[in-house]
Amino acid sequence: MFPTSIAGSLPKPAWLSETHKLWPQWKAEGGDLAQAKLDATLLWIKAQEDAGLDIIGDGEQSRQHFVHGFLEQVEGIDFEHKVTMGIRNNRYDAQVPQVVSALKLKGRVHGTEARFLRAHTKKKIKFTLPGPMTIIDTVADRFYGDKVKMAFAFAELLNQEARALQAEGVDIVQFDEPAFNVYMQDAADWGVKALEVACAGLTCTKAVHICYGYGIKANTDWKATLGDQWRQYEAVFPALAQSSIDQVSLECFHSHVPPDLMALLKGKDVMVGVIDVASDVIETPEQIADTIGTALKFVAKDRLFPCTNCGLAPMDRNVALQKLRALGLGAALARSRYA
Ligand code: ZN
Repeated sequence: MFPTSIAGSLPKPAWLSETHKLWPQWKAEGGDLAQAKLDATLLWIKAQEDAGLDIIGDGEQSRQHFVHGFLEQVEGIDFEHKVTMGIRNNRYDAQVPQVVSALKLKGRVHGTEARFLRAHTKKKIKFTLPGPMTIIDTVADRFYGDKVKMAFAFAELLNQEARALQAEGVDIVQFDEPAFNVYMQDAADWGVKALEVACAGLTCTKAVHICYGYGIKANTDWKATLGDQWRQYEAVFPALAQSSIDQVSLECFHSHVPPDLMALLKGKDVMVGVIDVASDVIETPEQIADTIGTALKFVAKDRLFPCTNCGLAPMDRNVALQKLRALGLGAALARSRYA
C-alpha cells in the first residue's frame, strides 16, 4: 500500500554541475562528465533506497534540463543559435534552441542511464521524459509553422524512446506535462491525444506528471496570482480519465488545488504530491500522513501513490535528502494509520 516515488529530478552534487539552478553548467566534459553523471545517479539511487522509497528514478542527473536533455538527441534542432522565448504563457523567459528541419532521433536518448538504473536497484524503476506539449512550449519553431503538428512529431520520437526504455526494463514511463496546467483547453483538445501517441504500444505503466512547476521565483509569483482555488486540473482530468494513461501525478500539499478534483481521475492511479518543492521546510511524517488521509477521501487506497509535488532539481541537496526521508517515513506512518 502507498508505494512512494519522486516526481523526477533531484539536485545535482556540486562536483557535477552548478547548484540551485534550472539550467546548470556542467563542471566536467567528455568522458569525465559521462562518469560523473553516473556517479551522481548511483548516489541518488542509494539515497532513495535508504529513504525507503519503493519506485526509484535516476534523479535526472544526466540531463541539464528536463526538456533540453531530450532535445539534445534530436536531429533538426539548432542548439548553436538559441533564442530568448517566453515560456509557460510568458511566465518567464528561457534560452531555447530552434527547430529548423524535420525531426528525427539521432539515436538513443537515455539508454545509458536507464540501463545503469536497472542494473543498480532491484526495486521498480521509473523513467521520465518531457511530454509533447511541454516540449513545444520550450523550443522555438522555425520549421513546422503549426504547434499541434510539431507536438505530434515530437510524440512519435518520444514513443520510439519510450519503447526502448521499456525494453530495458523500465517499469513506469512518465511524461512531464506542466504545460497542461497553462494551456488547459489545448491539453483537453489535443494534449492528451499527443500523449497517447507517445505511449502507443507500451505495456509498462504509463504516467503523466502535471504540476505548477519547480519552486523557482517565477513560479511562486505566478501561483500567488491563481487565487484561492486552483482549478486548472478540472479541464484536463476528465480527458485523462478517458485515456489509456495509467497514472497521474499531481500537486497537493501546500497547493490550492481543491482535493475533490482527484475524484475526476476515477479508475486511474494517483500520485499525490505530499512534499512541497517550493519550501525548504521539511514535512513531518504526520503532515504527510494527513495529506494522504485527505486524498483517501477521493482516491482508492490501492491507487494512491505518495509522491513529491514536482522535481527537486533546484533545491539544496541536503534539503532534498531530508525530504526523501520524510516521504518514506510519512508513507510508513500512513500505512499503519490507514491499513
Ligand atoms: Zn513538475
